[in-house]
Amino acid sequence: MPTRVHKLRQAMDGDKVDSLVVSDQVNVSYISGFSGDAGLLYISPSRQYLITDSRFDAQAAQDAPDFQLAISRGKGYLEALSRVIRRTRARRIGIEADHLTYRQAQELRRHLAGPRMVATRGLIGRMRMVKDAWEIAAIRRAVAIADRAWARTLPRVRRGMTERELSGEIERAMRIEGADKFAFDTIAASGPNAAMPHAPVTGRALRERDLVKADFGAVKDSYCSDITRTICLGKPKRKQEKMYRVALEAQLLAEGAARPGMRAAKLDKVAREHIATAGFGDAFKHGLGHGVGRAVHELPTISRSSNDVLAPGMVITIEPGIYLEGYAGVRVEDMVLITENGAEVLTQAPKWAGS
Ligand code: ZN
Ligand code: ZN
Repeated sequence: MPTRVHKLRQAMDGDKVDSLVVSDQVNVSYISGFSGDAGLLYISPSRQYLITDSRFDAQAAQDAPDFQLAISRGKGYLEALSRVIRRTRARRIGIEADHLTYRQAQELRRHLAGPRMVATRGLIGRMRMVKDAWEIAAIRRAVAIADRAWARTLPRVRRGMTERELSGEIERAMRIEGADKFAFDTIAASGPNAAMPHAPVTGRALRERDLVKADFGAVKDSYCSDITRTICLGKPKRKQEKMYRVALEAQLLAEGAARPGMRAAKLDKVAREHIATAGFGDAFKHGLGHGVGRAVHELPTISRSSNDVLAPGMVITIEPGIYLEGYAGVRVEDMVLITENGAEVLTQAPKWAGS
C-alpha cells in the first residue's frame, strides 16, 4: 500500500492538486487496504488519513496501518474530514468529481474557507488500469470460478427452463465453485430477448433452436470476472450459425491483435470491421470491451472513441456481439491479460455447445 500512496501523490502532482479526498469506496480500499464499506481517505502532501466511524475502528487500524485514523463521532464524515483538513496546509484539494455528490461538495465547501476544491477525474482509475502480480492472481481465481461454473451449468440447460431459472443455476454454480459474491446480476437471455445487449431476465422458457446468451461473473478476493457465452438449443439455423461464427471470428481476430502500445480504438476497429464486412452492418451495438479489476467495468475503455493505449498488466474484456432486433443476439466475451508482447486469454470455458 505505501507504494500506491506514493504513486498517487505523483499522479496528484500531475493534476496540480496538493491534497486529495478519496470518496469512491473501491478507490478507498485500493489505496489504503481498508475492507470496510464506509470510509473516506484524505491524502495530504506528507500524511494520509482514513476517516470512518466507530463500527470500523478496529478493522481500519488492522487493514490500513499506514493511515492515521479519524473517527467520525455522529456529525458525519465530512465534518470529521474538515477537521482533519484544517490541521493541514492544503491549498488545492482534489475531489473525485465522478463520485462526490453535489450535496457533499457543497457541504465540504461550507466547512472549508481557505483551500480551493479542484475536480479530478480518473486519477486513481488510471492507476488501477495496470494490475500487479497479486491482482492478476486474484483475477485468475475469479475467472476460473466462472469457467467452472459454466462447465457445471451446461449439462443442466434444457428446453422449458426459464431464463430466471438459468440465471439462478449459473449463480448457484458460481457459489459452489467459490465465488464470494457476483460481479453483477447474471444475464440469461433467450431467443429475441437476446437481441438486447443487456437484457433483464424474464420468465420466458427456453425453446428448441433458441440462441441463449449468458453473461456472468464472480468476485473472489475483491476482484471480478466477466464472461459471456452463447449456445444454441438443438441444431442452429443457418442465419444463427452465421451470426455466432462471425462474432467468434471477430473475437479471435481481436485477441490475436491485442498487444501493448496498441490504441484501444484500433483494437475495437479490428472486430467491428470484420462484423460489418461479413454483412452485419452496425449490429455490433457497443464497445469491444472494458477493463476489469475491483470493479467489473473500469478503465481502460475499448471502444471507437477511446483514447486509451494498451499496456502490459492491463486486464480487459474482448466481447463482440451481433444483435438483430426481434430475432436473436449473440455475444462471446473473454477476459484477456495484456502481456509484454501480446495478450493471454484468461477465460477457458468452451465456446460453442449447440445441440
Ligand atoms: Zn459481461
Ligand atoms: Zn463485459
